[in-house]
Formats: sequence, structure tokens, C-alpha cells
Amino acid sequence: MKIILLGPPGSGKGTQSKLLINHYNIQIVSIGDILRSYKENNKLGKKIKEKISIGKLISDQLIIKIVKETFKKNNISKNFLLDGFPRTIDQAIALKEMKIKINYIIELIISDDDIIKRLNGRLIHLPSGRTYHTIYNPPKIKNKDDITGENLIFRDDDQVKVIKNRLVEYYKFHKPITNFYKKEAKLKNIKYCQINADSDIANVNKKIKNFLKKNKDQINNV
Ligand code: AMP
Repeated sequence: MKIILLGPPGSGKGTQSKLLINHYNIQIVSIGDILRSYKENNKLGKKIKEKISIGKLISDQLIIKIVKETFKKNNISKNFLLDGFPRTIDQAIALKEMKIKINYIIELIISDDDIIKRLNGRLIHLPSGRTYHTIYNPPKIKNKDDITGENLIFRDDDQVKVIKNRLVEYYKFHKPITNFYKKEAKLKNIKYCQINADSDIANVNKKIKNFLKKNKDQINNV
């Protein structure tokens, strides 16, 4: 099971990823989480932090390098989910050139208004990447992670003005990626589906699992 979750910031990729990897017991590569783990005490860490804080994408060259290293270091090969990658067509091509075959592409669809509502109020547990929301998905204890009890934070890039930049970046790059994977789906190399992500977490999760169940064994390269 090799899955890519696509969708704009705030569509629930992170939340759904965590549910899916636990349910199917598969590995996750979350580029956003990896980037946030870079320390700011060097030039590279500072540059990453700076780009994220203004809602701009990090260079393809660096992202592709990080993905290659992550796959190698963590011995990722059989079952995995990619969250936040690819975000540009060059990243999608690089993934194909890495000979990493993907079985399922799941694209989460949501309106900009809903995105802003969701991100503005989102809380994150930095070490694990678990996310909550002050209204829609509150932690059991205010501002504390449900599993570890550690503090939750608001992400700097979840402020409305930065969210708007992130959306601009998303819309600039996402069409060529979806076209690329739709072509792959026509060749029956992958299964592609779009899921309406404007309902609650459990409902979206159920729709994703139904899609995965229904399409099991129906692709050329499983
Ligand atoms: P996320 O946690 O997926 O919302 O990502 C947070 C930020 O990390 C993005 O707004 C980008 O600045 C950066 N980022 C994450 N994934 C990528 C990627 N595949 N390519 C470029 N930048 C990325």
C-alpha cells in the first residue's frame, strides 16, 4: 500500500495521515513535520523556517534530497503514506524517477473559506505532528497532547495572512500534479480519487478507507 495524500493546506492531510498509518500499520513520510524538525541554529534551518513562516515552498532540490535521504535512512519501501509530497510537478517526476511506485492518490477537496476556519485555531504537537483544533477537534485537556500530555502550540504559518500565501502557492502548482496522476490513473498504474473533505474527521476517514478497500488489487503495479 503506497499512498499519496494531496490537497490544500488545512484539508486534513495531516489528521487523516495519522489515522491511516495507525489503521493500516504503515510508515509515514510527512515533509512538513521533517522540515519543522530542522533546528534554527544553522543557515539551512534558518532558511527553512523563514520560508515556512511566509507560506512559501522550499526549493524542489532540497525537498527531493530530503525525501531520498528519508526513504534510505528509514528503509521505507513496502507500505507508506506520503503527506505533503509531491507539491510541484518536478517533485512528482523526481518521485517517479526514484522508481518508487505509488498505488493510490487521494486528493482532499475543500473550499478556501473552510480552510481558513480550520487552520485558524489549529493546535499542533510538534514532536509527533499530531494536530487538534480549538473548536472542531479539541484535545482532552486544554493545550495538551492527548497521548503525551506535552504542550501544544499554534503554528506561525497558520495566521490568516500566511494561510493566504500558502493557498496561492498551492494553486500555482497543484494542477500539473493532478493532471500527471490522472494520466497515470488512465494507464491503470494508480488509483486516483477525489474526496470531499468538508465533513467531520471520522466521515472523511471512512470515505478514504472505503476507496482503499474497493480498489484493493485493482491496479497493475501493486
Ligand atoms: P505542511 O505541514 O504540509 O502544511 O507544510 C508546511 C510548509 O512546509 C509548507 O507551507 C512549505 O513551506 C513547506 N513544505 C512542505 N512540504 C513541501 C514540499 N513538498 N515542497 C516544498 N515545500 C514544502
